[in-house]
Amino acid sequence: MNLLNARCVRSLLGSRWFPIVPQLIMLVVFGLLIAGGIGVSTDNPDFAKQLRNTNLANLIIWSYWWPLIIIAAILLGRVWCMVCPMELVTSLAGRIGLRQKAPQLFKSGWVITIFYAVILLVGVHTLTVHRVPERMALYLLMLLVVAAIVGLIFEKRAFCSYVCPVGHLLGLYALVSPFEWRADDVSVCKACKTKDCVVKKNHYRITGRSCTSNLYPATIKDNRDCLLCTQCLKACPSGNLRLSTRRPFADFFAAVELRAAQVGFIVLVSGFVVYEILSEWKASKHILTWVPDHIADALGIAGPMAGFVSAVVMFVIFPGILFLTVGVLAKVLSGGAGAVVKTFALLVLPTMAGAHLIKAILKMTSRIPYWPYVFSDPKGVATAQKILDGTLVLDKSVPGALYPVVSCSAAAVLLIALTATLLIFCKSPAVRKLDATVKVPLLFGTLAYWSIFGLTVFVWRF
Ligand code: SF4
Ligand code: SF4
Repeated sequence: MNLLNARCVRSLLGSRWFPIVPQLIMLVVFGLLIAGGIGVSTDNPDFAKQLRNTNLANLIIWSYWWPLIIIAAILLGRVWCMVCPMELVTSLAGRIGLRQKAPQLFKSGWVITIFYAVILLVGVHTLTVHRVPERMALYLLMLLVVAAIVGLIFEKRAFCSYVCPVGHLLGLYALVSPFEWRADDVSVCKACKTKDCVVKKNHYRITGRSCTSNLYPATIKDNRDCLLCTQCLKACPSGNLRLSTRRPFADFFAAVELRAAQVGFIVLVSGFVVYEILSEWKASKHILTWVPDHIADALGIAGPMAGFVSAVVMFVIFPGILFLTVGVLAKVLSGGAGAVVKTFALLVLPTMAGAHLIKAILKMTSRIPYWPYVFSDPKGVATAQKILDGTLVLDKSVPGALYPVVSCSAAAVLLIALTATLLIFCKSPAVRKLDATVKVPLLFGTLAYWSIFGLTVFVWRF
């Protein structure tokens, strides 16, 4: 079903004010959230654990904005990118910038993977940008500045295409989405003389821009790279685009090919998501952090650097071992490992996305008790102090009442992810073209990854 056939949807998405007005609004919101974090800082880790939820800006960014864009990407595709203020900043910078061609390093995808690794290992787990509001604000500011600088130097929207790890993650999760943006009638595109959706002269228009994500709508193969910016709809004289429904996970049954850098990115995220879920329950957190804690102790490392060591172990070494095991077994059994490891990365994606969705639900519900206090004390310092002193006890009745709903949702998401993974395993062209001998370790590795979440969620919640 093409949603653009509904007049109200076509009018909205085809409007010259869309998405620039929502983007401007989001830019203002981002500015307010940055302002809400500035000047609110602490070096006390226990205080930071409270402050992250009592500071309004920090609460919105990490407990609602980030979880919601993950959920939205899985259910709807890259709808966040549609209204993202960073895209606006980088595109506007591009209008006055040098418009240099992107270097090969950008195109390889490794810049995104390395940038993500730095954010995860240094930003989140060493500098705790997710807990200290001022650091969160500086992190957002840094993203906006990098978006502007990349826009000033390179052509088109190089920040979105080659630098932004948020968009990259959302693109991978959008493979699951039951919606897609494509050319409506490919024969119309073939007959089109002007190709307004791709021509260079339209690259820097404010509205009706040709695609600056290097896509030609008639040949879009999957949901990874399209930002749903709707510019091609406005550029196309025939309006020959569709935003249509499809089978969920549809891209996995087509010929999706991951690049090496994307596999590296998935290795990091797969480890991160394991941490995100297992750290919710004391028993599983204890098991997961036992090795990294002992390594940090043995090396005599404490404080923020211990966080860095833990992150390297949990997000690089642990998932690296899993990917390496599958790769080595494939090499021994069939003589080749590259295609198998790429397929393995593809197969863990539904579980990874499902687990990320569960984490988003857990986070949003568990933070409900903080809402009554964040408007009277938006900086959150006094509230955090009261919670630490024990003079304020949060009312956790709402998350308590939601516990069974959340547990059932988590179980349902995991079972859907498992079913989808098995179907993909049986039917996807990526798996089919592999040697039969490597399919056993591939399936074993995929199920092992799913079991980490399956065991945790079912033992913990039921
Ligand atoms: S790729 Fe990144 S910067 Fe670009 S629109 Fe998406 S989230 Fe925003
Ligand atoms: S294909 Fe269209 S909607 Fe997608 S990124 Fe390019 S211009 Fe935007």
